[in-house]
Amino acid sequence: MASIETDYLIVGAGTSGLAFADALIAESDAEVTVVDRRPAPGGHWLDAYPFVRLHSPSAYYGVDSLPLGEDRIDTDRENAGYYERASGQEVRAYFAEVASRLAETGRVSLLYEHEHLGQGADGERVRAMRTGTLKDVVVRRRVVDARYLEASVPSTHTPSFEVASVAKVAPVNELPAAADSVSSYTVLGSGKTAVDACTWLLDNGIEPDRIRWVRPRDAWFHDRAHFQPLDQVGQIIEGIALDVEAGAEATGLDDMFERLEASGRLSRIDPSRPATMYRGTMLSARELEAVRQIEDVVRLGRVRRVEADRIVLERGEVDTRPDVLHVDCTALGLRSTSATPVFQPGRIVLQQLRYNSPPANAALIAFVEAHRDDDVDRNRLCPPNPYASSVEDWPRMMSRSWRTEREWLGEPDVSAWLAGSRLNLVSALPAHAAEPAVRSALERYLTNVGPAIERLEQLDDSTTKVAATVEPARPYPEPAARPPVHG
Ligand SMILES: Cc1cc2nc3c(=O)[nH]c(=O)nc-3n(C[C@H](O)[C@H](O)[C@H](O)COP(=O)(O)OP(=O)(O)OC[C@H]3O[C@@H](n4cnc5c(N)ncnc54)[C@H](O)[C@@H]3O)c2cc1C
Repeated sequence: MASIETDYLIVGAGTSGLAFADALIAESDAEVTVVDRRPAPGGHWLDAYPFVRLHSPSAYYGVDSLPLGEDRIDTDRENAGYYERASGQEVRAYFAEVASRLAETGRVSLLYEHEHLGQGADGERVRAMRTGTLKDVVVRRRVVDARYLEASVPSTHTPSFEVASVAKVAPVNELPAAADSVSSYTVLGSGKTAVDACTWLLDNGIEPDRIRWVRPRDAWFHDRAHFQPLDQVGQIIEGIALDVEAGAEATGLDDMFERLEASGRLSRIDPSRPATMYRGTMLSARELEAVRQIEDVVRLGRVRRVEADRIVLERGEVDTRPDVLHVDCTALGLRSTSATPVFQPGRIVLQQLRYNSPPANAALIAFVEAHRDDDVDRNRLCPPNPYASSVEDWPRMMSRSWRTEREWLGEPDVSAWLAGSRLNLVSALPAHAAEPAVRSALERYLTNVGPAIERLEQLDDSTTKVAATVEPARPYPEPAARPPVHG
């Protein structure tokens, strides 16, 4: 049996695994082996639909050492006035470049089409998927689980509903190829992928009345205006000032979301309908305006079965036809996993720390691994903060993010790293802090963040639950799924 020796074995060559590897190489002398089942680096981006784009700006996505894009401001279409967002193809090309630069250091080996099977008798067991050859990897320091939050995407997931053989159902990836051969479209799913499918149809001249939208839940979306970095960093500070103001003053969960909506921080597609889903996604005002044209919305819960002439849902059924294309956008996207300690004996399990910053979180965990000596201290700086799925998750996720950021600011080396990292969405703040609007937003943030943490922790009936349900360290924690939710 072939054998490999390495300091760190990273399982997963997606954004998280590569952002971690990149930062670890920069901050230590470690040797790293990265394995992934897929044939190339980039994780779920390899299987993304053809018209996918980042929903956040490229400026703070990817790995720390290599910029993505040119920090251009888009001048037309739905992203006009905002920093560019890479297409799926650009993200894939970027990660190919990242991987080749990592390999050139001579300290990183990347093995694609290699599956990590877990612990074997003589080390970590990896299988070369083409040949079936088993390899033992002797890991001198730690295994890094960069697949704990593995994304689920429409082209590779198994839909949770049945499809009769005569019904036309296709993953969103097949929409462009199938679009011409049908009379109308039913988009299945509530999240960003479903929004993208609807926007793509509208952009391609399909009249809104030829689109039906099956939305099991209505979602809250951020306004992309509040996630603009660099010269527009004041917008981010304005956004977080609105968060803490709503948090500090809220009398309850509903009241808080009303405040967030009234301030323009969050929006829902139909303001007359309650929204219960929050997945951290963002839309521009123009995207929101476009999808609001679709009036045929089915709110009968999740799809159970698609047949030739009807769709059976949790709470009823609606008619359909064999010439309707049902576009599957129901994959989970971000996986809702339970919290487990990030640093464990012989293991690191990459997870969310600060909300909406997957690459920065992974890179920061690498920094902490390299610059702290004991795991108690490392875990203090990196408490896991599971992705939100519903409005009930918001108080826990936000208050935990703010508390964790305070811990970081108290550590000079961590805050210096953050200040210099392109992955930190507010890294341009010092250059703009003297601008009156930025200064005023910052003051509102600083005044309200303490009361907001306190208030949100009271509102969060899961705060104590999350602390208690951080699963104890286990040799190889399987992703412990929380109840599935449709994206
Ligand atoms: C459509 C879409 C758009 C998004 N847009 C943004 C955005 O604009 N901004 C943002 O910040 N975030 C965005 N996200 C969130 C996104 O999930 C993260 O940014 C990031 O790409 C997740 O990367 P990951 O490495 O954690 O997971 P993945 O990309 O899922 O990578 C995990 C990898 O682990 C591998 N793997 C799993 N098990 C094994 C095993 N046993 N052995 C070997 N390999 C294994 C898998 O093959 C996979 O390649 C988006 C997500 C989706 C789905």
